[in-house]
Amino acid sequence: MRHEAIINRQVAKVAQRQVAVIGGGIVGTAITEALLRQGHKVTIIEPGAFGGEQAASYGNGAFISPASIIPMSMPGLWRQVPSYLLNQNGPLTIRWPFLPRLLPWLVRFLLAGWSKARVTKTVQALSDLLSQSPARHADLAARAGVETLIHEEGLLYLYVDRHAYKADGLAWRLRADCGVKTREVEGEELRAMVPGLAARYTLGILLTEGRHCLNPGGYVAAIAQHCLANGATTHESCAKRVLTSGDTIVGVETDEGIVACDAVVVAAGIHSAPFAKQFGDHIPLEAERGYHVEFSDIPLDLKVPVMPQDLKVAIVRTAGGLRVAGQVEFASAKAAPNWKRADLLGEKLHSCFPGLVENTKKPSPHRWQGNRPSTPDGLPVIGRSRNNKNVIYAFGHGHIGLNAAPMTAELVADLIADRPPPIDTTPFSPKRFS
Ligand SMILES: Cc1cc2nc3c(=O)[nH]c(=O)nc-3n(C[C@H](O)[C@H](O)[C@H](O)COP(=O)(O)OP(=O)(O)OC[C@H]3O[C@@H](n4cnc5c(N)ncnc54)[C@H](O)[C@@H]3O)c2cc1C
Repeated sequence: MRHEAIINRQVAKVAQRQVAVIGGGIVGTAITEALLRQGHKVTIIEPGAFGGEQAASYGNGAFISPASIIPMSMPGLWRQVPSYLLNQNGPLTIRWPFLPRLLPWLVRFLLAGWSKARVTKTVQALSDLLSQSPARHADLAARAGVETLIHEEGLLYLYVDRHAYKADGLAWRLRADCGVKTREVEGEELRAMVPGLAARYTLGILLTEGRHCLNPGGYVAAIAQHCLANGATTHESCAKRVLTSGDTIVGVETDEGIVACDAVVVAAGIHSAPFAKQFGDHIPLEAERGYHVEFSDIPLDLKVPVMPQDLKVAIVRTAGGLRVAGQVEFASAKAAPNWKRADLLGEKLHSCFPGLVENTKKPSPHRWQGNRPSTPDGLPVIGRSRNNKNVIYAFGHGHIGLNAAPMTAELVADLIADRPPPIDTTPFSPKRFS
């Protein structure tokens, strides 16, 4: 036993790496936590506050859903393109001036969902990534000492009627094929589960294994604090480029000096693509811009987060209040927010819960805009760079970054350790865009 322990320590010592993680959102902090558990030395490079408003991880819909395996691009989506261009109040919009630049990405996006066969492959890959996500988050939160942030009440997808539910039949069949567990909720049970719900909703699909995070930004901050307490260091700066000497990684140049390392993980969300380009990988990464409004003054007792399918928003009670998150807006990551889109979310809340009364004396709701880091095929980029095996990518998580962070972290830890992964990672390979 003692002998075995010594060998393990020696192996750990030989294998120990000095890793720089670029980006401290949910993906970067979860990776840091996984690498520390493997005995590596880790520095997180992050210019903002951990879990701060600059990160998509701050303002998301908080859903940890094993059902989030259906990509945005589905067969027949092209038919809706005219309405996306013409209706600036719809759930998905494209800002006209940005259309020419976005066109190549949008074409790839539409093609990715062109046939059922393509979508089925994407769904299978996402299922591998997400099927255990609720349990993995419970474990991660427990290790970080914030288990109370992950709530287990399930997640409820709302439909006006069975006709609307049947219109989403392909998505639910694909989910069922991947083992996603659901239960129908109707009548009195639905009213009791969601007090104040608009009468037009007659059917709920409860994801019994779904969870949500009570405070997505606070969760990131807590994981980061846990990492710092366990030996990670942080460099409060913006990474500029990776420094090499021949094939050897020697550090990361930042606007506040150099961080020495022998391996790099790129987890900078929407800002990741330039680092990949440095190593010969041209990843089509676009911002699917989203918004949230959060009302601190609405006392709605919403235990189970809901996603009304006619409104395409997530409504969830967080530590900060009642949050409505959603919208997909194509423009550019740098474009100014269109706060009308956030206000629309407030209107959708009232449409879902018509009896709600806001306290008009309280300040207006908190409004936020963030960038989902999205690839056209709806799959993240997790793998080694083309030109250097010690540069590892972990970005492009689009709509599922919170959900997928713990499994992504495990896959990155396996890459750093040269261990075979527990799932097929070829769908996530950066090479797929060659
Ligand atoms: C409205 C909305 C709702 C969503 N709802 C959900 C949901 O319910 N469930 C879900 O799973 N996902 C959801 N998402 C998606 C999810 O939020 C993202 O996929 C996820 O947060 C991405 O995490 P990340 O760590 O890759 O990026 P980020 O959280 O954006 O973090 C990247 C970090 O990198 C830092 N950075 C950037 N450039 C540099 C640099 N040069 N050097 C160093 N650091 C740098 C940034 O400061 C930032 O902190 C939603 C997103 C939006 C916008």
